[in-house]
Amino acid sequence: MGLTVLSAPSARRQRSRQQLLEIIRSHPGGVTRSYLSALTGLSRSAVAEGVQDLLPGGLVVEQREHGRGLNRSRGRPSSLLVPAAPSGAVVGIDLGHTHISVALARTDGELLAEQRESFDVDNRAEAAVDDAARLVETLVTHSGLTMADVLGVAAGIPCPLDPVSGRTRPLGDHPTWSDFDVREELSRRLGRQVRVANDAEMGAHGERRFGAARGCRDFLYVKASHGLGAGLVLNGEVYRGATGAAGEIGHIQLPGAQGLCRCGNRGCLETVVSIDALRHQLEELHLPGLPSSSNGPLTSLGANPVAARIVTEGGRVLGHVLADLCNCLNPAAIVIGGELGTAGQPLLEGVRESIHHYALSASAHAVDIRTAQLGLRSELMGAVSQAIEHALIQA
Ligand SMILES: [Zn+2]
Repeated sequence: MGLTVLSAPSARRQRSRQQLLEIIRSHPGGVTRSYLSALTGLSRSAVAEGVQDLLPGGLVVEQREHGRGLNRSRGRPSSLLVPAAPSGAVVGIDLGHTHISVALARTDGELLAEQRESFDVDNRAEAAVDDAARLVETLVTHSGLTMADVLGVAAGIPCPLDPVSGRTRPLGDHPTWSDFDVREELSRRLGRQVRVANDAEMGAHGERRFGAARGCRDFLYVKASHGLGAGLVLNGEVYRGATGAAGEIGHIQLPGAQGLCRCGNRGCLETVVSIDALRHQLEELHLPGLPSSSNGPLTSLGANPVAARIVTEGGRVLGHVLADLCNCLNPAAIVIGGELGTAGQPLLEGVRESIHHYALSASAHAVDIRTAQLGLRSELMGAVSQAIEHALIQA
């Protein structure tokens, strides 16, 4: 009987395989072969060869692409290469200005439990972190798990932070958040490394993995809430800027606006368009049907024509600023989340009108304006997606 000798893969092939595995693991939502080729500079055949090596080992699985097709070529749908999920759970934390939300999910993204409570996060950083840790432990225990089952934790926070040091840099007068090492504080309380990012960035991750930006490599997620911030995804990667302060669109100056902003300047976008500015205008007109909760969705506003008109005008002002961003970045989509995003159609109408009016036609026609598919949970689900990525990288 003849003897078959299988030669070991060459060193080059092993390096390619490792490089591809690392990229796939850092994209829990999946990547296409052509994206891998573009990102690594490897030829299509080298990528195909590397993927062929990875699939039988079970480290990577292949799925049909289910996104909206913004970055797909026409014709046959391509398949996505997704990192295989280790068995265990992950935790996502969303610290908003006035709430704390916590979610427990499986490593494939399926939600196991979730809890949200009101909390004065802006003025009580240490207490907010204490409370978040307590909520996590309660959720894990009530789900019949222990912290040893938790493979990754990520948290979104309501202010800019230095991506290297993890220290926060609040814009307004929030002394408890000034130079606060939120990553270290959360990690110490939970007994494991916690991945931390600005909430608008988390919103972008959430909509990209689970919501309105699936399959999209160039888009902006706008968190329109008490303030306005944007998560920028450019060429498939989050862009944070030199010091983590990119995307603070709430502080872009509006010509003629004079309102004093929490940043100390006058005439910033968020003095005119924010959930608080909108509520103020609606209350001045004593409009009925306002949600009683200070953080509730605004879905009912469209039913009142006067309220809808105010929301649309807010959308026009926001759209004017977003038109400049379209000229600068040429995104394929803008996803509007936060409480303002839940106002839906009247808001989108105003934003679209301004973008078509003020952006160059090539950019205006390229961009699709939509509201967040995850409603008020984009940031929380983004934290879940980052916790999954963290778990996969450590696997
Ligand atoms: Zn400002």
